[in-house]
Amino acid sequence: MEDRRIREQIVFTCQALYQQGLNLGYAGNVSFRQGDSVWITPAARPKHRISPEEVVQVSVTGQPMGSGRASSEGKMHYAIYRRRPEVQAIVHAHPPFLSITAVTPIDWPPLLPEMEIVIGPPAIIPYLPPGTDELAERVAMALDGALWGILLNHGAVALADSLEGAFDYLEMGESLAHTLVLSRLVGPLHTLPPGERARFSR
Ligand SMILES: [Zn+2]
Repeated sequence: MEDRRIREQIVFTCQALYQQGLNLGYAGNVSFRQGDSVWITPAARPKHRISPEEVVQVSVTGQPMGSGRASSEGKMHYAIYRRRPEVQAIVHAHPPFLSITAVTPIDWPPLLPEMEIVIGPPAIIPYLPPGTDELAERVAMALDGALWGILLNHGAVALADSLEGAFDYLEMGESLAHTLVLSRLVGPLHTLPPGERARFSR
């Protein structure tokens, strides 16, 4: 994909996250891997207001390859890319209902087939201070083979082979968190029959 197109797609993804209520202001970051380099949202900017020119290019180890300063949470993205060769795009955000599950840790029982079929249960990632090397390595390790994860006391992250895919997984995760959080207020959960998770497991 052309550099210009990558920049535009990252901006489009940030705007979509904002418009869908999945991320606000300075939170979150979006990246795309191209060969040995990573394109990522800049530090200290409201993500839905950035222009394509502000997207920053760094090496997969985080070394600057042009102008601009990458998100401090970029380390988490680079660690995931180094560990997961199949991942091409990462979306990290602080979606409202996923953030509730990040501060009230709960199991993710098999509730709806779309979770079991498409994204599977999230990896639950212990809290470590944002922007640190420890968090970056821990997230990359804890995600293991998962397509998405919940960072306790922080937010959520989704990985895919495209920006659209990573956005879709995060959006689906938020929709599932919405169902899970509200259904726990309404009454006891009715889970899928035993064996369904194993049947659908990727
Ligand atoms: Zn964050």
